[in-house]
Amino acid sequence: MSVFEHPSYDNHEKILFATDKVTGLQAIIGVHSTVSGPACGGCRMWSYPSSAEALEDVLRLSQGMSYKNIMADLPIGGGKSVIMKPEGEFNRQELFEAFGRAVESLGGQYITAEDVGVSPDDMMAVRQSTKHVVGLPEGKAASGDPSPITAEGVFRGMKVCIERGLGKSDLSGVRVAIQGAAGHVGAYLSGHLAEAGAELIITDINEPGLKELEAKYGAKIVGLDEIYDQDVDVFAPCALGAIVNPDTIDRIKAKIIAGAANNQLATREMGAEILKRGKIYAPDYVLNAGGIINVMGEIQGDFDPAWVQGKLVGLENTLGEILDQSENEGRPSNIIADEIARNRIEDKRSSKTMEPA
Ligand code: NAD
Repeated sequence: MSVFEHPSYDNHEKILFATDKVTGLQAIIGVHSTVSGPACGGCRMWSYPSSAEALEDVLRLSQGMSYKNIMADLPIGGGKSVIMKPEGEFNRQELFEAFGRAVESLGGQYITAEDVGVSPDDMMAVRQSTKHVVGLPEGKAASGDPSPITAEGVFRGMKVCIERGLGKSDLSGVRVAIQGAAGHVGAYLSGHLAEAGAELIITDINEPGLKELEAKYGAKIVGLDEIYDQDVDVFAPCALGAIVNPDTIDRIKAKIIAGAANNQLATREMGAEILKRGKIYAPDYVLNAGGIINVMGEIQGDFDPAWVQGKLVGLENTLGEILDQSENEGRPSNIIADEIARNRIEDKRSSKTMEPA
């Protein structure tokens, strides 16, 4: 298995392979960039079929966190970690304590948090071994559920897209299809949209959650697969990744694709396909940065709502710049977002290198 030659290796500053025979820990921590501050990003535990797949995931995800954090103008870099879920029985508390020791060995260059397959309680176990962990369920600065702030960021960004795509400054009568409407972000987003006068078309595997939204906001429920074919203005993916793909792209009628889900495009090339069809795509990691903005409050040691609001305004502005550039240059918004992120990282890196010792 190659690392430096790996297609997803992007000059990551550090990759730590951590094993602990006693607990069965096999983890990889990817520190993509610390140019803006400690690399921050969650820990994912997954039954990876091989260590090559775990490496691929950590390389991609840690780079993604760098991009997300720098686009939200946060004083943190990007990192991520993956734990290969042990087969059979294992002691979860001890496994996460061992993972905490690996995090601690980086001396604060990486700050971890929960991600897929990991709970706030697991982070409490990590906290036994290191203080470089956030997303704790309790404590002075615990930031709690990030979903309301994520939903607010998505809502604000969606308005930016609607202004550009539909020429409307309000949402009255705008039709929005939400995939994963009953989820943490989807439900808050539904509330914002309904309050602003939008018409909701919703789907989810959680039927009671859908019924609740139907009763509360008069939302129309459609089947899981029908969501793509709806005659709407906005398609908001708030559940799954890779949902804009060759099978769905021509079914999506919406002029605007803007939602909370991570990695919405199956491949980078889908951005060009969206543009070709005259649609607007809000790059996911720009739009859904509310969650990490919220966590930043915990890293800073206090939670300042005014600071959070300022960052959400920044998110709107950044998205506006990306969409303007995309329109002016006729290039896909996802590619432009990646370029801006990479340039911002490189600018910071070179200004750091030039600082006198
Ligand atoms: P969640 O698990 O609470 O919600 C996801 C919803 O999608 C659930 O209601 C689930 O039932 C539904 N769902 C699952 N499979 C589905 C399918 N096939 N079709 C339709 N719906 C389906 O998660 P969340 O926290 O609301 O996050 C939603 C997305 O946003 C995820 O991709 C997540 O990575 C991303 N995100 C979330 C945050 C946050 O603050 N929570 C921040 C950034 C990004």
